[in-house]
Amino acid sequence: MIQNNRLTTEQYGQNFSDIHPPFETEDAALVEANRCLFCYDAPCTKSCPTGINVPKFIKQITTENIKGSAHTIFSSNIMGAGCSKVCPVEKLCEGACVYNLMDETPIHIAKLQRYSTEIAMEKKWQLFDRKPSTGKKVAIVGAGPAGLSCAHTLSREGIDVTIYEKESKGGGLMTYGIAAYKVTPAFCEDEVNYITSIGGIDIKYNQELGKDITLEELQANYDAVYLAFGVGLARQLEIPGEDLNGVVDAISFIYELRTNNYSALAVGDKVAVIGMGMTAIDAATQAKRLGAKEVTLIYRRTQEEMPCTEHELNIAKLDGCNIIWLATPKEVIGVDARSDDPVGRGKVTQLICETMKLGDPDASGRRSPVPTGETIALDVDMVIKAAGQMPFEDMANINHLENRNGKLTVKEKTATNLKGVFAGGDCVNGGKEVVDAVQSGKDGAKAILNFIF
Ligand SMILES: Cc1cc2nc3c(=O)[nH]c(=O)nc-3n(C[C@H](O)[C@H](O)[C@H](O)COP(=O)(O)OP(=O)(O)OC[C@H]3O[C@@H](n4cnc5c(N)ncnc54)[C@H](O)[C@@H]3O)c2cc1C
Ligand code: SF4
Repeated sequence: MIQNNRLTTEQYGQNFSDIHPPFETEDAALVEANRCLFCYDAPCTKSCPTGINVPKFIKQITTENIKGSAHTIFSSNIMGAGCSKVCPVEKLCEGACVYNLMDETPIHIAKLQRYSTEIAMEKKWQLFDRKPSTGKKVAIVGAGPAGLSCAHTLSREGIDVTIYEKESKGGGLMTYGIAAYKVTPAFCEDEVNYITSIGGIDIKYNQELGKDITLEELQANYDAVYLAFGVGLARQLEIPGEDLNGVVDAISFIYELRTNNYSALAVGDKVAVIGMGMTAIDAATQAKRLGAKEVTLIYRRTQEEMPCTEHELNIAKLDGCNIIWLATPKEVIGVDARSDDPVGRGKVTQLICETMKLGDPDASGRRSPVPTGETIALDVDMVIKAAGQMPFEDMANINHLENRNGKLTVKEKTATNLKGVFAGGDCVNGGKEVVDAVQSGKDGAKAILNFIF
């Protein structure tokens, strides 16, 4: 049965505590930093989308130059603190660390990055100066990682930036989407404040493009516009029964979790999660941590093709989530609407899935899944859809922005088809990671500076 208040306050606290705790002592950080080989042409740096000079910031920790270390990180990635908590480092810097080649544990780069950046944020070190105002103004839509990174880079160059954000808080999916055991809302708020403390960045909250403001107004009132509005809700399954009570979208489910007390969020006894990306893993593990008795992830392909990392899969497994590979949802079954059901859409009781098998290899040797014609029925009382997100297609079309199924089309990484309008982050790439959005923001700022001056 879907219900809230399943656990005690202590249990909720334990289940949602930091999944990657920081170093307990300064000595522990120093010992780890001293393991680094400070490689020339460091592969860890090359594999970071923002190009953080990893050996340099680690070397600075070994000489107890924490301010310098934080400066090295933030000059490449102003969200270096948040990224140290949410980046899938096992496929980025830590995955590239040379220690892997020696079958030894890679340097805990994220933990060291967290060490320096958290001290910098706690001590409110202002590591960058803003140049005197140039009188130029830029509007940014969206206060997520792409928008904030663009804003900070522009502000350093003396541009006055106004960010229009539809929510009442900044941080984008860092604040509203990413699992609570990776980043807390309080941390996200501190990070936004730390970024904007450089000055010259005004965030106007509860201001939605298309409702409270139009693109034409922004184009008329600013020297350039940067669009960083991310992507929207989870993709529809397009199967019968999808509108039954108990079928929810993963993004809305996590949004509710991030904006309410854990105890207020209702979760089923038996939950099915469709998908195997980061969002699916976050939704499944959090459903379990909210007290669901049984959580099953369903994915139409095999483990080899799953979009989440091995590390994330292991988190789900350790949390006791079941996984069904090679199965695709076909129908959601529900009992009849009850008279006390305000929506009158019935309730979920079963999810029917068709099993798949690997077909013959194509020209590239890839074997795609093909339906077997056989079905399995899972008894469930909640279904969470996490099979990818849908870009804001209407927003793109209404504003005559060239797009591919809603994903904005850009030239030279960042320029849209409209003069003076640039874009980046998830609204262009269709949904990658925070660190990619931060790099897009930097690219956007560079292109805007070239355009303005
Ligand atoms: C559930 C989930 C879990 C994730 N987990 C991770 C993770 O662990 N690690 C990781 O690196 N990445 C993760 N990601 C991906 C990551 O969060 C995104 O790639 C990143 O936040 C994209 O940044 P962005 O600035 O492009 O967009 P967003 O973060 O989506 O920010 C867009 C901002 O624009 C605002 N906006 C939207 N429309 C309008 C409008 N019309 N007017 C004004 N403002 C508007 C939004 O409110 C939002 O604040 C996850 C994503 C999801 C959905
Ligand atoms: S690859 Fe590993 S050992 Fe080499 S510089 Fe990077 S973190 Fe240090």
